Amino acid sequence: MAIDFSQPPEVVDLVERTAAFVRDVVIPQEERYAGVVSAGGEALRARLQAAARDAGLFAPHVSREYGGLGLGMTARAPVFEAAGYSLFGPLALNCSAPDEGNMHMLEIIATDEQKERYLRPLASGEVRSFFAMTEPAPGAGSDPAALSTTAVRVDDGWRIDGHKWFSTGADGAAYAICFARTSGKVGTVGGATMFLVDADNPGLKVVRHIDTLDQAMIGGHCEVIFDNCVVPDSAILGELDQGFAYAQVRLGPARMTHCMRWLGIARRAQDIAIDRVAERRLFGSKLVELGMVQQMIADSEIDIAASRSLVLQACWELDQGLRAAQSTAMTKTFVAEAVWRVVDRAIQICGAAGVSGELLLGRYLNEVRAFRIYDGPSETHRWALARRAVKERLKATGALESAS
Ligand SMILES: Cc1cc2nc3c(=O)[nH]c(=O)nc-3n(C[C@H](O)[C@H](O)[C@H](O)COP(=O)(O)OP(=O)(O)OC[C@H]3O[C@@H](n4cnc5c(N)ncnc54)[C@H](O)[C@@H]3O)c2cc1C
Repeated sequence: MAIDFSQPPEVVDLVERTAAFVRDVVIPQEERYAGVVSAGGEALRARLQAAARDAGLFAPHVSREYGGLGLGMTARAPVFEAAGYSLFGPLALNCSAPDEGNMHMLEIIATDEQKERYLRPLASGEVRSFFAMTEPAPGAGSDPAALSTTAVRVDDGWRIDGHKWFSTGADGAAYAICFARTSGKVGTVGGATMFLVDADNPGLKVVRHIDTLDQAMIGGHCEVIFDNCVVPDSAILGELDQGFAYAQVRLGPARMTHCMRWLGIARRAQDIAIDRVAERRLFGSKLVELGMVQQMIADSEIDIAASRSLVLQACWELDQGLRAAQSTAMTKTFVAEAVWRVVDRAIQICGAAGVSGELLLGRYLNEVRAFRIYDGPSETHRWALARRAVKERLKATGALESAS
């Protein structure tokens, strides 16, 4: 099957303009804040987003109806990668996690009324949001069936009770998308439902910021309590008990957009390393001429190229309306590990400067590490990939029917 991955001229133009914007406007800010995105806070977010809006680059993933540029998944790939060349780029374009994934899901499953109230201000950058699914043990993490937060019917709607953590961006967000069990028992898939919960609901409390390796997220990674948190029927996002299915609407594409953004940082790390070895002389030759360094550079080129191809294939499937479960899992696992390898090699190539504050490579390493855990840990994806591959094979050989 032939797949044409060439991008239309308007996307190529957008990629070039995004790269120039990141180089001229965003990277100077990254250097000013030593790569710590959260250090700039809301003021920096507003400033960068205003600049991106003026440059016609704002919200590339959002439909034109809600003020964006209306790019599909395949077209997003090079644009998000260009934005991701700086840690601050996705924030400027309003395409960073978790808001970008939330916008994507709201566009697909929210009612028109919910879109006006929640999607429009999010897409315009007026507000931020968070996605509250993960719970402390023994609650939901890699295994969503462990979901313990409950929502029960009450006279005036639903009462949510539960304990969440690692809710990225929760501090200062305008609302949560909260994942709660509405049927079935803990340990069974049962029915989950997503609820839109306003941050000023007295039953929602952001307890604390959790200290993590990464520092990119304005609003932190927070512990959040839902305690007697009553919401109306109109807070239900999509249909009752369909939360697990809807989570896939968000998580498959969100995994790919994370890959795209982190590929930008991988490319940046590789460029920093190449610039350095082109100048540095050791043992009578330029470092770039020494074989072991060439191998590291080559291996990183292979990792970046393979990652881009996997992203495009998975995005193409998503654009065709396919579920793309196998390809998004494969891509997420490979890219999360490849990006780590590329940044790690760049540090090695740069010697002591690589781990110092002189270059931002150490910051990049801290930022990308968690990607092997969120959006599904590598082990969870490998487990699912293997199960599906075995099932396919047994189906093809007829062994599955004879076993059942
Ligand atoms: C920086 C960051 C941001 C996050 N943001 C959000 C957010 O905004 N909203 C949200 O809801 N959550 C968020 N999370 C949480 C994230 O989704 C979870 O950490 C992830 O789903 C894993 O769950 P867990 O931490 O409970 O690990 P556990 O489920 O306890 O898993 C622990 C480990 O078990 C191993 N494992 C998992 N499955 C298998 C398997 N099948 N076979 C063998 N080993 C396996 C893996 O090594 C895994 O790392 C974030 C996490 C981080 C680190």
